[in-house]
Amino acid sequence: METKLSKRLAAVAAYVPEKARLADLGSDHAYLPLFLVENDLIDFAVAGEVVQGPYQSALTNVAQAGEEEQVQVRLANGLAAIEKDDQIDTITIAGMGGRLIADILVADLDKLSSIKRLVLQPNNREDELRDWLSDHGFRIVAEEMLTENKKFYEILVVEPGQMKLSKLERRFGPYLMQEKSSVFIEKWQTELKKISHSLARIPADHQDDILALQEKITAIKEVLHVS
Ligand code: SAM
Repeated sequence: METKLSKRLAAVAAYVPEKARLADLGSDHAYLPLFLVENDLIDFAVAGEVVQGPYQSALTNVAQAGEEEQVQVRLANGLAAIEKDDQIDTITIAGMGGRLIADILVADLDKLSSIKRLVLQPNNREDELRDWLSDHGFRIVAEEMLTENKKFYEILVVEPGQMKLSKLERRFGPYLMQEKSSVFIEKWQTELKKISHSLARIPADHQDDILALQEKITAIKEVLHVS
C-alpha cells in the first residue's frame, strides 16, 4: 500500500527538490522519505530517529514497503544519522519545536556545509529559528503557512546564504507577511484574540507581562493593518 501523507507532511514534501539525496531527521514513521521514494521523486533517503519506538516503526514501514535499499533507517541523534558517503544534499526536519530544530542543526555545523536545502517545519518558536538561520549563514527562500486539525503550521525553505530580517519579519516570516494569505490572517487574528483575552486578566502590578503582551498586540495589528 502506498504511503499517504498528511496535509502538513505533503506540504513539506513539495519543497524537496526532485532527485535530492535526503536526510529526514526525526522521521518517526518514515512516511515522508517513503512517500518521496515510492513516487520516484527521490532515489535515496536516510530516515534518522533518536528514540527506539519510532525507529522501530520506521524500520517496519520501510521493510513492509520493500524500500530498504533506498530508505536507510538509522538510530541516531540528529545529524549523526548522516555519513559522508550518503552525499546528502537536502535535510527535512518536521514536527518539532523551533529551538530543538536549531539545537539539532548547531550540533554539527560541518555536516551542513554540503547541504543545498533545508525544509523545516517548526511547531513553535519560529522567530528563534529564523534568528538562528540568519546567524548561521542561511537564508529563507520560501515560506508556507497551512492549517490542519485546527493547528497552524509554518514551513521554512532554507538555503545557504545571507539574510537580514527586521523584527517583524523575524516574528511573522518575511514571505508570509508579504503574502498575507487567508490562513496567515486567520492565525494572527486568533492570536490577537488570545493575547487580548490574557491581557484583560493580568493583575495590574505585573507590568513587565502587560508590556510584553501589549508589544505583541501592536506588532500583530501593524502586520494585519488593523487599528
Ligand atoms: N517528522 C515527523 C512528522 O513531522 O510527522 C515526526 C515528528 S515527531 C513529533 C518528532 C520526532 O522527532 C519524534 O519521533 C522524536 O523521537 C524525534 N526526535 C526528537 N529529537 C530528535 C533528535 N535529536 N534526533 C532525531 N530524532 C529526534
